Amino acid sequence: MANPHPHFLIITFPAQGHINPALELAKRLIGVGADVTFATTIHAKSRLVKNPTVDGLRFSTFSDGQEEGVKRGPNDLPVFQRLASENLSELIMASANEGRPISCLIYSILIPGAAELARSFNIPSAFLWIQPATVLDIYYYYFNGFGDLIRSKSSDPSFSIELPGLPSLSRQGLPSFFVGSDQNQENHALAAFQKHLEILEQEENPKVLVNTFDALEPEALRAVEKLKLTAVGPLVPSGFSDGKDASDTPSGGDLSDGSRDYMEWLKSKPESTVVYVSFGSISMFSMQQMEEIARGLLESGRPFLWVIRAKENGEENKEEDKLSCQEELEKQGMLIQWCSQMEVLSHPSLGCFVTHCGWNSSIESLASGVPMIAFPQWADQGTNTKLIKDVWKTGVRLMVNEEEIVTSDELKRCLELVMGDGEKGQEMRKNAKKWKILTKEALKEGGSSHKNLKNFVDEVIQGY
Ligand code: UDP
Repeated sequence: MANPHPHFLIITFPAQGHINPALELAKRLIGVGADVTFATTIHAKSRLVKNPTVDGLRFSTFSDGQEEGVKRGPNDLPVFQRLASENLSELIMASANEGRPISCLIYSILIPGAAELARSFNIPSAFLWIQPATVLDIYYYYFNGFGDLIRSKSSDPSFSIELPGLPSLSRQGLPSFFVGSDQNQENHALAAFQKHLEILEQEENPKVLVNTFDALEPEALRAVEKLKLTAVGPLVPSGFSDGKDASDTPSGGDLSDGSRDYMEWLKSKPESTVVYVSFGSISMFSMQQMEEIARGLLESGRPFLWVIRAKENGEENKEEDKLSCQEELEKQGMLIQWCSQMEVLSHPSLGCFVTHCGWNSSIESLASGVPMIAFPQWADQGTNTKLIKDVWKTGVRLMVNEEEIVTSDELKRCLELVMGDGEKGQEMRKNAKKWKILTKEALKEGGSSHKNLKNFVDEVIQGY
């Protein structure tokens, strides 16, 4: 029977880059009349800087031991998957007993068991894909006919491949899980992606919600017909999309002193002059690499805001962790441990973003009209870089030397290219502005992503 007031249960892997877009989706679902229960770990919930208090949004937390100091790494994925399944079962039963049955379970990447669980309870489910549609297509092709070819060429630096409906991809543009080095991590993630795709193929009516928008990836969204991808993004803070307040962000991380001085500092800088440097919530660099970035920033002569995350084990950064030119850095720029990124990106003083190209950072930058300097590390980041550089043409890629280091000169060169007066820089900045406008159009009432989400909710109400 049609339920006019659907109740969604959302679960994601407890990483910042997974929680942020899922929480935004939760808010949008509530915006079109739904209730949402958001399941996550106690630890992940405690790291949300601003606990979103939205009518209709409830959190349900469970323990993975991290709140008691147990360290969880990528090899613990099976532990998380088991705990998530147990918790979801209990939640689904408890919600039914309370008279608030779950209408649809939305699960994000790395938790394919959630879809099987939903099926066992006879509840419809939807897969939330938090990377570009292009990347999901690549995984699909890898497991459907192209895997042998990609594996056989994975160490050939000159390898490139044409996949239907996608731009030509070099080795650098493929997900690192096909060509990278950390086998355990790769095996777990790849196995999970394969399982996700198998489950979708078994569904009569698969639903995949993608954090992208129709105008951004028109071909990729349709490349694999049977996946039926629905673009509902960008899932960036709603304050941004309605033009009010970009601080309405579910941003997490360590803002231990609650400091927001960086916003005052940004205000003091002229328009489009500041270099924002941040590499997301996971990637870490060697001291040698940090020193090169520091020198490149100093020598560029431009003001910069650089996020250097505190060590995760709670240890104070030691003397040997200090950059050799710390004082000069603090004169010319500002070093912080975390910020409300969407607020920073949407500040008028921003000139460019030096980023690892995690998908959230990439799409937040596109949505803010800020050109990028890409320093991809792993997973989808190489593919995201390819799209930013060659398809959307809003950025450049830093090249590493034979020691896999980006030198200060290379960073300086790219800063000049993107922010300087040359033709290339002007072109990138113009394109960045164009994507900002197109983002707003997709997100506004009646825009493509807004309509797609509404249609999805209507289908849930009708019972698919
Ligand atoms: N982020 C933030 N403040 C920071 C650094 C990152 O709010 O100082 C947010 C950022 O806006 C993004 C997320 O953390 O939403 C990072 O996700 P992304 O996919 O870019 O990278 P990951 O952390 O998964 O590598």
